[in-house]
Amino acid sequence: MIPYPQMSSEEREAEYQHLLAQFEDLKAQNLKLNMARGKPGEDQLNLTRGIFDIMRSPEDYLSDGIEVRNYGEMTGLPAAKRLFAEVLGCREDQVFVGGNASLQLMYDTVAKGYTHGLLHSSRPWCKEEKLKWLCPAPGYDRHFKITESFGFELITVPMTDNGPDMDMVENAVKDPAVKGMWTVPKYSNPDGIVYSEETIRCIASLKPAAPDFLLMWDNAYCIHDLEDGCETLPDILTLCASYGNPDMVFEFASTSKITLPGAGISCFACSEDNMTYMKKLLDAQVISYDKVNQQRHVLYLKDKAHMIELMRKHAEILRPKFQCVLDALNQEIAPLNIASWRHPKGGYFVSLNAMPGTAKRTLVLCKEAGVTMTNAGATFPYGKDPQDSNIRIAPSFPSVNELKKAVSVLCVCLKLSALEKLNK
Ligand code: PLP
Repeated sequence: MIPYPQMSSEEREAEYQHLLAQFEDLKAQNLKLNMARGKPGEDQLNLTRGIFDIMRSPEDYLSDGIEVRNYGEMTGLPAAKRLFAEVLGCREDQVFVGGNASLQLMYDTVAKGYTHGLLHSSRPWCKEEKLKWLCPAPGYDRHFKITESFGFELITVPMTDNGPDMDMVENAVKDPAVKGMWTVPKYSNPDGIVYSEETIRCIASLKPAAPDFLLMWDNAYCIHDLEDGCETLPDILTLCASYGNPDMVFEFASTSKITLPGAGISCFACSEDNMTYMKKLLDAQVISYDKVNQQRHVLYLKDKAHMIELMRKHAEILRPKFQCVLDALNQEIAPLNIASWRHPKGGYFVSLNAMPGTAKRTLVLCKEAGVTMTNAGATFPYGKDPQDSNIRIAPSFPSVNELKKAVSVLCVCLKLSALEKLNK
């Protein structure tokens, strides 16, 4: 197959007509497929079926002598802190275990900066004239939405193969209005990029002009490897402290994609001084989070080694789905020179860069053929991809058979939109 950009316009027109016929056939099949959100499939949910009847005897309601069914232990069960501390490689006393979603803790941390100020704020952020936030992109739309909702100006930081473009970050943090940055250091959403050690050190050693600069270290995919033997990242809390920035970082994690999304447990981890400060603020907000669910998770997940075993079972289900997407792209799209993508070693997404100016059109065509995808632009601040190129593929939810069909539709739509663009 000749790459599309090298074809003559007559050849492209012939190819377009041929694809249009395929597209009409696909439309006639009245498909209803979805590759939009990064949700585990039902077979993954079934892996943790046992969590529902794990608390049977009266001793199961006691954790380190604490009655889990009653109020108290606002910062979480010590056993749940130990579990997260082992997974994240930090200390138990640095961990706060919250409710069913880390996103809520992230929102709450930003909200506290806004209403009360953080530990080193001279005033609450709401009293500042101008607020800016660094958003490595492509990134997670819900992160961007949080800081957008508080009126921050979102500054796009391009992603490289090693993480955010650090030259740009180092320069941007010289502005005292820049109050923080989103990061997903392992298997970034959507690119699946693992930040390099050099990038991580560079981030930990930043010298922001804002004394209350907040590094949001969202370690959502900390043990979500697709293959054995994947990297473990250095502990960001220790690293920030070693560069004189102990209070700059809040790390987040949850069991959403280990046990049950929306019904798991979540945590943040931070310095001792930040913990004291946050405890005081949170004390006005909550008596205790759901310790019954925390206990259920402690009993079910046991320890990191046991969790890794469970993650291997998730990976066995996910690997063929990722492979199905990558095989189709390699066969159908690679020879045409119209898009590029990464081969993630973990996380929940395949991130595709279509020919600039064609992502939106591709997804309109997908929709016409019955395939729902994450909106084009969603992976950028304000939902606007300046190149109109990035498409986030979430292979986890559909079955392999559905996925095969959905990706073949996507491939036809990618080709059609590229040809339309080239023949303009
Ligand atoms: N952070 C990232 C990077 C995610 O991709 C997701 C879900 O897709 C979340 C957080 C949501 O986590 P939680 O369910 O703990 O709120």
